[in-house]
Amino acid sequence: MKKISSDKVIYTFKPKMEEVEKVLPDEIFQVETNDCFYGQIKKEEQLVTEVDFSRINPATGPIYVENAEPGDILKVEILDIELPEKGVIVTVPGEGILGEMVERAKTNIIEIDGDFCYFNGLKIPVTPMIGVIGVAPSDETGEYPTGSPWKHGGNMDTKDITVGSIVYFPVNQPGALLALGDCHAVMGDGEVCVAGCEINSKVTLKVNLIKRKKIEWPIVETKDSWMIVASGKNLEEASKEAVKYAVKYLETGLKISWDDAYMLSSMILDLKISQVVDPNKTVRAVIPKSILSLRNLFEKL
Ligand code: CA
Ligand code: CA
Repeated sequence: MKKISSDKVIYTFKPKMEEVEKVLPDEIFQVETNDCFYGQIKKEEQLVTEVDFSRINPATGPIYVENAEPGDILKVEILDIELPEKGVIVTVPGEGILGEMVERAKTNIIEIDGDFCYFNGLKIPVTPMIGVIGVAPSDETGEYPTGSPWKHGGNMDTKDITVGSIVYFPVNQPGALLALGDCHAVMGDGEVCVAGCEINSKVTLKVNLIKRKKIEWPIVETKDSWMIVASGKNLEEASKEAVKYAVKYLETGLKISWDDAYMLSSMILDLKISQVVDPNKTVRAVIPKSILSLRNLFEKL
């Protein structure tokens, strides 16, 4: 199994990037990721205000997927997210949804034992997830720092990007150029204080292609649902984009009118907040698979 080491990182998703490894469709490989601080915080005495900010949110890659061409969909199956023994969470004055109430920077180191992490005497079940995962943006879109989410993915901080899920990305450039990092042992919807339980990890993935099909925003597939993951300047803009494409997929997938798809969405679609703390905010529109099958979603694109 190929391993891509955690010293091969990018801080910007650019349309043109030099790959560090090539993989084939159907290939299983492992990506070593750094935590969002590039491992700069190891003790509680170390505050986030002292770290080198040019090394925040490293994403390991880019990884070139053979045969991926613009106009395809890249399918990324998340097979495993390995947990380290320690994670870190911080507060930063001015950051997070209550930023103005944060009086000082604080660091907590969190012990992790495989199934649980421990915080102030609480035993919290882990739900490992990937915060930053994306591909090269289109030439028209231009470059995005790894800390920003957009149509190419990036810092989506969506807790359903977890073991057993599949993430679909639009392929904008030859080879797709996948990169990922910023894993969390656990994070709640919103990521309200600006961090989850931040960890380094070893992520095992399998990639594949859906040829000549186009999606606008990343889609996450879980056991029961499809999630259109959209971002915007604020939650309202992000919500509008997520719902717009959910309605479109229901319209084309179920062969019903746009008006009926809009009404159906109002009955069966859940709009969930992914994160409210990054430069763009992210929501996901959740469609149950009982309403829209895999075949109907992708065949009609
Ligand atoms: Ca993040
Ligand atoms: Ca993070």
